[in-house]
Amino acid sequence: MPDSLNRGKTVAILGGGPVGLAAAAHVLERGMEPVVLEAGPAAGHAVRQWSHVPMFSPWEYNIDKAAGRLLAAVGWNAPSGGGYPTGGELLAQYLEPLATRTPLKDRIRTESLVTSVGRVGFDKAKTKGREAAPFEVRYQNGKGPESLRADTVIDATGTWFTPNPAGADGRPAIGEHEVQDRLAYGMPEARGALGAAFAKLVASGKICVEAGFKVSHLSRDGARLRISTGATCCGRHAVVDELVVATGLRPDLDFLREVRLSLDPALECPPELAPLIDPNEHSCGTVRPHGARELAQPEPGFYFAGIKSYGRAPTFLMLTGYEQVRSIAAEIAGDHEAARTVELVLPETGVCSGPGPLTNQAEVASGCCGGPAPAKADACCVADVEAKQEGKTGCGCA
Ligand SMILES: Cc1cc2nc3c(=O)[nH]c(=O)nc-3n(C[C@H](O)[C@H](O)[C@H](O)COP(=O)(O)OP(=O)(O)OC[C@H]3O[C@@H](n4cnc5c(N)ncnc54)[C@H](O)[C@@H]3O)c2cc1C
Repeated sequence: MPDSLNRGKTVAILGGGPVGLAAAAHVLERGMEPVVLEAGPAAGHAVRQWSHVPMFSPWEYNIDKAAGRLLAAVGWNAPSGGGYPTGGELLAQYLEPLATRTPLKDRIRTESLVTSVGRVGFDKAKTKGREAAPFEVRYQNGKGPESLRADTVIDATGTWFTPNPAGADGRPAIGEHEVQDRLAYGMPEARGALGAAFAKLVASGKICVEAGFKVSHLSRDGARLRISTGATCCGRHAVVDELVVATGLRPDLDFLREVRLSLDPALECPPELAPLIDPNEHSCGTVRPHGARELAQPEPGFYFAGIKSYGRAPTFLMLTGYEQVRSIAAEIAGDHEAARTVELVLPETGVCSGPGPLTNQAEVASGCCGGPAPAKADACCVADVEAKQEGKTGCGCA
């Protein structure tokens, strides 16, 4: 279908992170009308929360092509050299100019928290005529409840604001809600400095690493926090001032209650995607590029994109997300051939190898964690296999 036939098609893009903005750039380039709903006060709100963290992929892999074309048209100077930006530099030198200086600026609604998605006049159970009904996206801003009608919805709301709880079994530890003042979720400030200081203290024996410590209970111990692996007072435990919960992230599916979804039971991602991104088999550098076909849902016209599309899998790369939205925009525009054709060729190494969290030279040489583990190994990557062979519980990357 020629792009001209799609003019006027409204595409609601939920989330104004790197992938949501890239989606808007591709949709615009295809002659359709994107509307980005972003919960935060500015685009890149999640990236802003980790602005102090050095990225593990270099500049060249962090810029979407359609977004780059929009920026070039307004005289933007692409960051030069192959350096690794921090999250803050990604914002200042790429996401902010993209959101404020290009034609996207009139298509982004900030302070707009999406609260539900549905089809006008159709609850989830109703089928006849469903496909012809437009989507209605409800959102909340300072003025009160608002809504937007759209032909297609791309959910790129990420996972940053729904961290996993502290409990080792994926549920909140018993008592977790009562000790929130002692907990921090996600990436602590000055993470790089903390990591380096930590490594020295571990090497000098001043810090004990409690491997295989499965958190099940949290409670107060005077003014401090008691972290335990069991209910009994004499079980294994640690008493600390603060606990940083870095157990990963998960998608928020609550506002999609009226959308017909099909999700992998383990990873909470589109089922076709699960075998491609499974952390038991893959590291971020070995996920093959994919697009609209793998991301499709039983609800026609609804797509997940970006890190949210990976559900609970930690193997996401921005570059793969950019390829997702290129393909989705082509599919929505009716250009099925372009949607099917994979345009991204991931380099063998270097896309996710440093200088962020990886400091081990073997890891740097071969991409994330030394690449994927052999198919039959009970491990997520080469580093994990090696750690287990040395009698450890694993490399901890997943
Ligand atoms: C510390 C860190 C370092 C990383 N480094 C790299 C790297 O070097 N290379 C790489 O390829 N990848 C990296 N990643 C992984 C990934 O590329 C990033 O997380 C990236 O930001 C994902 O982009 P996204 O657009 O999918 O989601 P996000 O950046 O999370 O954006 C989602 C947006 O949606 C908004 N939102 C959330 N809920 C709602 C709602 N209900 N309504 C409206 N808006 C909503 C959020 O405010 C946010 O702005 C890193 C991730 C982290 C956490």
